[in-house]
Amino acid sequence: MNFGGNRGEWQNWARTAQSNPVRRVRPRDEEGLAAVVRGAGDLRVRAVGAGHSFTGAAVTDGILLSLDAMTGIERVERRADGTARVTVLAGTRLGDLNAGLAAHGLGLRNLGDIDRQSIAGAISTGTHGTGIRLPGLAAQVAGVRLVTAAGDVVEASPEHRPELFEVARLGLGSVGVLSAVTLDVVPAFRLEAVEEPWPLDRVLEQLDGPDGLVEANDHFEFYWFPHTRRTLTKRNNRVPDDDVRPLSRVRAWVDDELLSNGVFAATNTLTAAVPALTPSVNGIAARALGARTYTAASHEVLVSPRRVRFREMEYAIPRAAVPQVLAEIERWLAASGERIPFPLEVRYTAPDDVWLSTAYRRETAYVAVHQYVRLPYRRYFTAVERIVAQVQGRPHWGKLHWLGPEELDALYPRLAQARAVRAEADPGGRFANAYVDHVLGAPAERAA
Ligand SMILES: Cc1cc2nc3c(=O)[nH]c(=O)nc-3n(C[C@H](O)[C@H](O)[C@H](O)COP(=O)(O)OP(=O)(O)OC[C@H]3O[C@@H](n4cnc5c(N)ncnc54)[C@H](O)[C@@H]3O)c2cc1C
Repeated sequence: MNFGGNRGEWQNWARTAQSNPVRRVRPRDEEGLAAVVRGAGDLRVRAVGAGHSFTGAAVTDGILLSLDAMTGIERVERRADGTARVTVLAGTRLGDLNAGLAAHGLGLRNLGDIDRQSIAGAISTGTHGTGIRLPGLAAQVAGVRLVTAAGDVVEASPEHRPELFEVARLGLGSVGVLSAVTLDVVPAFRLEAVEEPWPLDRVLEQLDGPDGLVEANDHFEFYWFPHTRRTLTKRNNRVPDDDVRPLSRVRAWVDDELLSNGVFAATNTLTAAVPALTPSVNGIAARALGARTYTAASHEVLVSPRRVRFREMEYAIPRAAVPQVLAEIERWLAASGERIPFPLEVRYTAPDDVWLSTAYRRETAYVAVHQYVRLPYRRYFTAVERIVAQVQGRPHWGKLHWLGPEELDALYPRLAQARAVRAEADPGGRFANAYVDHVLGAPAERAA
């Protein structure tokens, strides 16, 4: 991306959002960032992280800010129990954050599937991983520093300006530009990864109950291959630091690069050309992913490379609704004739209290549907959206969905409050864009 202060088209990773900002600016520090906001004139301002949201969350027609020069760990405050509170500059990519924390003997409690995102971008859309006792990233935030619409630098936390804090930590950048984020982190830990292909019926039978897959594992998820009854299951659990059973480099390369990314690229290209082959290709792909067990640092287990470009929609649903939702998706696929080469991913998280969290006060399962970048996705995604609507599914703010403010109001109990906080923090819509206005409602001054 060109951030030399020039014009220039911008597009997101998934190629689902484009914009042509008037200016692109990369401030060196917080003072420079505040000066850009103060000097924006009539232009709207929006920060972009890694551009990994599938929605138009980071789009702007005004000034596009990259915080790529504002990175690194600013402060580490250790506690007697080994946990710590760490302040990190907002542009820091998760991969760099993980490496920086590891150097201090620390780690994030949980992570999503990739580490390309910036910390500010990741929390702003409610990025999450899997683990029924673990909430998403925004719930690990203990405080933020942000540049307001007036260009002031302010701090917010549960103790100081708690309402602003709620919308700043998960609110699509609608109340200000985050310059630093303070996170609660834990001592670094190792995970044992057990990855096994399982029949779908076995997964569904063993999901629930105190000894079930969801409860009995620190991080459980599975991928279901549409048009088959096959899955790939992933069970990641904490092990002692001296339990070192690495994957050989060759095996890691074959599994991650060749099978997960390389073969996957080939199967997607093939099924895009000949859709009728999709069911048998999915069956072969599901079988090709063999079982493997290894241990590694938590972030090395939780994060994987994603080299095949795709589109995604993800809904948070009540945990108990997973079997019903999958059965309905399977019925729809059979009836519609739609052919989907990409596996569907199911994950779990703990409830939390973050106002706009997809897991707000609800034990949550996530159902994520993907489609290869060269294939149409809308018919499949909207069909799944209708299915999850029956169980009060809440859309991930960074992934494709077609809900408007009224529907979202019914799903997110704190949305009206968040809107009021935004209206007060940014009455003129300095940080507005079409997507944010669509989901949070246009600020009163601009709408009038
Ligand atoms: C391949 C891939 C894998 C993914 N895996 C997961 C996953 O496992 N779990 C999950 O939950 N999600 C996942 N996502 C979604 C992704 O985590 C979110 O969309 C996340 O917001 C992207 O972070 P980003 O840094 O790219 O932010 P961007 O997409 O660039 O921005 C996201 C939002 O944050 C705002 N923002 C960015 N920086 C700032 C700032 N400094 N201050 C204020 N606002 C700011 C932007 O304006 C925008 O509204 C995945 C996406 C992709 C493409």
